[in-house]
Amino acid sequence: MSKRILYWLQNDLRIDDNPILSELATGQCTLDIVFIINPHWFKNNNYQQKPYGVHKQQFLMQSLYELQQIFIERGQTLHVLEGEPVSLLKARINEQNIDEVVYSEQFGLYEQRQINLLKAHCSNTKFTGAQQDTLYKQSDLPFDLNELPKHFTPFRKKVEAANNPITPSTLPNGLLPQPITLCAAKPIEPIDDNNAIMHGGFKSAQAHFAQYFSGLLPSTYKTTRNELDGFNNTTKFSTWLAFGCLSAKQVYKAVEDYERSNTANESTYWIKFELLWREYFKWHALKAGSSLFNFKGQKQTKPITTFIPIRFAAWCNGTTPYPLVNAIMEELNTTGYISNRARQIAASCLVNELGLDWRYGAAYFEQQLIDYDVAANWGNWQYIAGVGVDPRGGRHFNIEKQTTQFDPNGTYTNKWHGHSNKTQQLDHLNEVDWPI
Ligand SMILES: Cc1cc2nc3c(=O)[nH]c(=O)nc-3n(C[C@H](O)[C@H](O)[C@H](O)COP(=O)(O)OP(=O)(O)OC[C@H]3O[C@@H](n4cnc5c(N)ncnc54)[C@H](O)[C@@H]3O)c2cc1C
Repeated sequence: MSKRILYWLQNDLRIDDNPILSELATGQCTLDIVFIINPHWFKNNNYQQKPYGVHKQQFLMQSLYELQQIFIERGQTLHVLEGEPVSLLKARINEQNIDEVVYSEQFGLYEQRQINLLKAHCSNTKFTGAQQDTLYKQSDLPFDLNELPKHFTPFRKKVEAANNPITPSTLPNGLLPQPITLCAAKPIEPIDDNNAIMHGGFKSAQAHFAQYFSGLLPSTYKTTRNELDGFNNTTKFSTWLAFGCLSAKQVYKAVEDYERSNTANESTYWIKFELLWREYFKWHALKAGSSLFNFKGQKQTKPITTFIPIRFAAWCNGTTPYPLVNAIMEELNTTGYISNRARQIAASCLVNELGLDWRYGAAYFEQQLIDYDVAANWGNWQYIAGVGVDPRGGRHFNIEKQTTQFDPNGTYTNKWHGHSNKTQQLDHLNEVDWPI
């Protein structure tokens, strides 16, 4: 009798360069593919934010719709369930007599705890995790995780010197194992949003990927990547990478192919350089564990901040005294995406000008950013707040200088209504606001 395997899909919503599927396709098994929508994602957390804001929800549903269609074309089924993952999976493993659970290993602490809890509940079931979200497996890193360099540059140098090959996997013959006979999957409804700048899903990722590498944009990436605005100034792969509609290995390999067939210059190298930042934050998150979410991060002392709710609300709503920051927050709230420059300015403003606890900013980005990634988001926030892996101990972006340099004519600020009369004095409290 063939093995009965359950594949718990999480942030690996693709069939290409999916080593789990490639491996399963070569063996004898029947397969139950499951994605679980956790109600917890839509409830307020400790920071009064929902892990899944509307843009992220929409991108997720688009990604699930596209994947479900692809699985149907290949004779497989994607079951999208809603509920608390551990109890749902535990019940399903028992009902379906599952022999083995396969899953993509997670870098977030909460997600790791879930799988550990499930393992504890299902001690007779085999669990096999695969590291398929990163360029390298942990065993390919040229150092033990405990010896992960404290800063990015030594990490990059060591990884580059080791020069381990990065080879995306393929699905042999494009075939998938047969589904375990179950009731038909509940179909995901297609979601069209013509206003969205990026559409979720495996096919949409492939289309953007092909388009990006068919032109000459990779050859100018380094000269444009720092800009505040502009779709073509950076790759825009982050959203699909976050949901795993695309893998980092695929992007890295495509850059290498582009370098061979077009040109290899500083810009093409810099895309790989940024992918190494992503890689570094992933391993850093795994090593940091709960300290990734701690106020004092990797430092011994806490940053000096206070918490004034009215300031935080003004930052979220784009009604601070800083027009550029307001415009950035308006873009974020409207689209679910902002450039790296915009993220740095907004984060620095929250930490330095508003003097707020950086974790509230990180939690707000978690809710709003479509490309939210636990390692990159919390790692970058810690970096700016001076409690992370920044050798300079934090960053303060001068808003006036940033405006002069990156938005000299106010085009961006006007586009996103940064000067609107919603703009307020920093602490516009009157006596009735004070607690008695
Ligand atoms: C406060 C703050 C929060 C952030 N939160 C996230 C997040 O939740 N998810 C996320 O993917 N990125 C995050 N970033 C990093 C970066 O801003 C985005 O990866 C980038 O803007 C995405 O656009 P892109 O794909 O066009 O990037 P490109 O410039 O084209 O870069 C190519 C790829 O390299 C990676 N990359 C680039 N810069 C970084 C970086 N600083 N850290 C980690 N990876 C990087 C991304 O995977 C990106 O897709 C954050 C940065 C800051 C300052």
